[in-house]
Amino acid sequence: MTSPSGTLVFSSAFDAFEVWRDALHAHLPGMAIVDAGATGATGEITDPAAIHYALAWKPPEGFFDKMVNLRLIINLGAGVDSLVGRRDLPAGVPITRITDPQMARMMAGYVLFATLRHAREIPHFEQAQRRGQWAYRHPRSPETIRVAVLGLGELGALAASEVQRQGFTVMGWSRSPRQIDGVQCFAGIETLDTVLEQADILVVMLPLTTDTRGLLDRARLSRLPKGAALINVARGALVDQAAMTDLLRDGHIGSATLDVFAQEPLPAGDPLWAMENVLITPHLASVAIPSSSAKQIADNILRVSRREAPANQVDPSRGY
Ligand code: NDP
Repeated sequence: MTSPSGTLVFSSAFDAFEVWRDALHAHLPGMAIVDAGATGATGEITDPAAIHYALAWKPPEGFFDKMVNLRLIINLGAGVDSLVGRRDLPAGVPITRITDPQMARMMAGYVLFATLRHAREIPHFEQAQRRGQWAYRHPRSPETIRVAVLGLGELGALAASEVQRQGFTVMGWSRSPRQIDGVQCFAGIETLDTVLEQADILVVMLPLTTDTRGLLDRARLSRLPKGAALINVARGALVDQAAMTDLLRDGHIGSATLDVFAQEPLPAGDPLWAMENVLITPHLASVAIPSSSAKQIADNILRVSRREAPANQVDPSRGY
């Protein structure tokens, strides 16, 4: 495979430059790839005009300013909310994101773990164990437990299928109508309350956009059946965190597995840290995997170098 002309700039505080560079070189040997570092210190880059491609996760404001020949921005992850709303995006440069099957598998694994944890009442047994109690509770059969997955995209659709394969009764919700084997699919805001009212376990897998920010407010969370479990692996700002905390405290929401928060890291002293019915993980439900994502990134770079439209393009007007 020949490598296109132009340099690729990399920026991420979470991902190792050398690993991504080597993974990309496996598909684009000889391509010039430079590291702007965790801080996106483009001052280190001697010739910003040579940069045609940017592979970045949350680059700092002004990152793209001097890249006058930029042809493609590749978001180093699935969620593009931190990118699409920025004022410093160069006009007319397409944005793509990673939609890697391995990333979807990792996410589905987390959702399955969290769903089973709630369905099998593992928090109850963990707490009983700490008290030294043999606290038998007869297991419920999975088909009696209704799981609702909000967001049926690259990640949500696979997660819904995996949960369905375990025998749960699964509902899905998206903006436009979707069809997933064994999953009862709903679409549009007018159907959301119906979905929430039936969700013994609610899985949030929506992108954060102007339409979805704060979507799960106090009124909507209150529609969940009493004792429902909440799993948020998408973005904290989709949920009214103060209302969620109140509802967890009074037991209306029975338990939660939370990977994302309104503010990350979750501030020390936040009441969620100390709640026995909450499991907190530090935003790692799924990550972009270099070995499996590099080919789609390379394919897109080659497409753009041939003046073709890239795949997996984000629609900034839609926000995802
Ligand atoms: P996609 O863009 O592939 O899918 C988004 C889904 O949400 C689609 O089904 C879409 O509907 C639906 N949706 C969007 N807006 C609305 C709306 N207003 N009303 C109803 N449904 C809506 O996203 P992914 O599946 O790839 O990722 C989902 C999110 O997961 C990411 O945006 C990111 O925030 C988060 N994430 C979290 C990670 C973590 O480690 N915690 C890791 C990776 C991602 P339609 O089908 O009609 O388009």
